[in-house]
Amino acid sequence: MNQQLNREMFERAKRSIPGGVNSPVRSFARVGGDPVFVGRADGPFIYDVSENRYVDYVMSWGVHILGHCHPRIVEAIRHAAARGTSFGMCTQAEIELAELIKQAFPSVELVRLVNSGTEAVMSAVRLARGFTGRAKVIAFEGCYHGHSDGLLVKAGSGLATLGIPASAGVPQSIVGETLLAHYNDLASVEALVAAFPDDVACILVEPVAGNMGVVPPHDGFLEGVRTIADRIGALLIFDEVITGFRLSFGGAQQRYGVKPDMTCLGKIIGGGLPIGAFGGPRSVMERLAPLGDVYQAGTLSGNPIAVAAGIAALKTLHDDPPYELLEKRGAYLEQALANAAGIPIQISRVGSMFSVFFTGELVTDYASASATDGTTYARWFRELLDSGVLIPPSPLESCFVSTAHDDSVLEETAQAFAMAFASLAS
Ligand code: PMP
Repeated sequence: MNQQLNREMFERAKRSIPGGVNSPVRSFARVGGDPVFVGRADGPFIYDVSENRYVDYVMSWGVHILGHCHPRIVEAIRHAAARGTSFGMCTQAEIELAELIKQAFPSVELVRLVNSGTEAVMSAVRLARGFTGRAKVIAFEGCYHGHSDGLLVKAGSGLATLGIPASAGVPQSIVGETLLAHYNDLASVEALVAAFPDDVACILVEPVAGNMGVVPPHDGFLEGVRTIADRIGALLIFDEVITGFRLSFGGAQQRYGVKPDMTCLGKIIGGGLPIGAFGGPRSVMERLAPLGDVYQAGTLSGNPIAVAAGIAALKTLHDDPPYELLEKRGAYLEQALANAAGIPIQISRVGSMFSVFFTGELVTDYASASATDGTTYARWFRELLDSGVLIPPSPLESCFVSTAHDDSVLEETAQAFAMAFASLAS
């Protein structure tokens, strides 16, 4: 593959953009090599600036469940753009998107639109604090909820419960309000609750973790956090920024049958444009300004083009639910991986989200996910890239299958998997 132009672009980007990337996950620092500079995309494919074609399993980090450039979404964007790109005022389309979200998520009575997943979770947490009058948040090590100060936290080494900042620039005083439990470990949640019985505003969790690779919840885990939240009077927040409209029309909460108090959404609901949303019961959501005393706002919130793209995406998913098909396609790839591996790996999959961990051990939480062999993952990643398959440039991310990944694309991928594993062995 000709990488010359890509190389030149990366060099040029680095002169104007920190690290040459506008989000660190795009960097290939963990796997080696230059980030891909994309020229265009179509269906299951992404093309770099030299027109090298890759089968895309990043899919804008889970945005494109219908593939790139779905005709209905492209048409909706065209139509909306011609009618005005931003009003900073109310529109009928916002109501329609809110109604679609409510239809999919019965736990959501009122929903507010924002511009990113980060904003959605940040605002939901503020609302939970305002509603309960409490300050502390229980989150889980290895889950990601965007880059707001209070949620950029990692487990401390001393007092295992108290978080420390995961980024410079985040004061200890802020992450001190965030308590970290272990995913799939209810006892770790109980320990935090016992230490701070009256202080927990919310328990915040990815119902299927997608940001430490894919780590599914064990039987009873989501039910367990639900019960604990009820017992202590805290709100349970599901961060469904990835899983919403992906694991079923009604997200992970429909798939697992556990109802949170609040739900955060993003990615799919914008059809590829910047968006986020958070919603929950009327009693909680009515605490938001202008009705209540919890402030939250946005110039571009409910942007007409993003909303039009989102409506097109959600209506397509509603009218022709792809979830069985995506399950089959995910299962095909899982089987292809298992057949090809020849070395110990863990294939972790829920529906159309999957990841491959290079380990012989079960992966159930952040400790076990981050103990897997990243060096072999990096080699495997580069082999796949060389044969035209793009997966996330980090083992602690999810691959995403879309409706555009048809049988021939899946077969091509299975062959690439086999070749990549074979060259690891050689
Ligand atoms: N929550 C989850 C579960 C996510 O995966 C992400 C982003 N990958 C976010 C929140 C933050 O969303 P955004 O990047 O749109 O701010």
